[in-house]
Amino acid sequence: MDLRKRCKQLASMLAPNKLDALVVTSAPNVRYLSGFTGDNGALLVSAGSTTLFTDPRYEIQAAGETGCKVIVARGPLLERLMAEARRKRLRRLGFERDRISYREFQTLDENRAPGARLDPVVGAVEQLRCLKDPGEVALIRHSMQIAVRAFEQAAGCVRSGMTEADLAAELDHRMRTGGAEASSFETIVAAGRRSALPHARPSRAPIKEGQLVLIDMGALADGYASDMTRMLHLGEPSRKVRQMYAAVLEAQMAAIEAVRPGVPAATVDRVARRTLRRYGFDRLFVHSTGHGVGLEIHEGPRLGRTSQDTLETGMVVTIEPGVYLAGFGGIRIEDTVVVTSNGAEVLTQLSKQLRIL
Ligand code: ZN
Ligand code: ZN
Repeated sequence: MDLRKRCKQLASMLAPNKLDALVVTSAPNVRYLSGFTGDNGALLVSAGSTTLFTDPRYEIQAAGETGCKVIVARGPLLERLMAEARRKRLRRLGFERDRISYREFQTLDENRAPGARLDPVVGAVEQLRCLKDPGEVALIRHSMQIAVRAFEQAAGCVRSGMTEADLAAELDHRMRTGGAEASSFETIVAAGRRSALPHARPSRAPIKEGQLVLIDMGALADGYASDMTRMLHLGEPSRKVRQMYAAVLEAQMAAIEAVRPGVPAATVDRVARRTLRRYGFDRLFVHSTGHGVGLEIHEGPRLGRTSQDTLETGMVVTIEPGVYLAGFGGIRIEDTVVVTSNGAEVLTQLSKQLRIL
């Protein structure tokens, strides 16, 4: 991964926005630009240079992980960073509006040179992160493989009477032993009526014969997330479940079919909704069709009704339509896909048929 190129790209956005430098405080953005994986770091990115500020606990780690200049601060990082900005006479400083606490902002403000300006910046690094380079795609592919393998292994252990929490723990354990450093978000296992809660927390409720089981999971490996949802059914599903499942599957495949560079992300969302409308299920689809995946589980682009984003080659996004019927249950099918020059490559290499146990 070419970290210097990323910093250069970011630096090239400074002058057009009337900035001398950007203060980067969000951990995933710091990691993206510098390679530093510690949890206390900040970057000062200007046209000519990138400097990482961290504390003494990370001195050795920072030197090994990043190629940029490192300053180990003995006191508060942002005070040290602002001292460096004053020394370099950087007078127009951008800061990450959505990624900074009020206290951190106060520190920047209290330590700026007289007459120096602080300008809020939104999504500058995040915009770069939408487009993955081949190295990042390889990491997400690997993260996805770990999740798929864990799913295959754990699905084989599901028995009536097992609790949602036990199955979630089994999935997490399999991901960890399979090479993940963590799960990319809290694994969702929701059975029966609870599957109608799109973001259910696994409960101590036992999974019973005749129930649908929604599993939404992903691995975090080398810092990169993956995201997938599959459905199990204990015993023969009813006609209603089969109909709902067929509609969601059709919507999911139609949406993947619509993925191509140059296509507005909102169009992909519309395709999924239009398919569900034919079956009368569009009102039960209560979230957006997908989101970008990378260093964070939810990042740009957004694939929703009001999204202004346009798909580009190298974006990695989820496609995850679902229908949720209160008191009955929910069905979601989710893949992580990469936008290629002529369409989409599905990274979730796993059957999409309803798995009947
Ligand atoms: Zn998911
Ligand atoms: Zn998702």
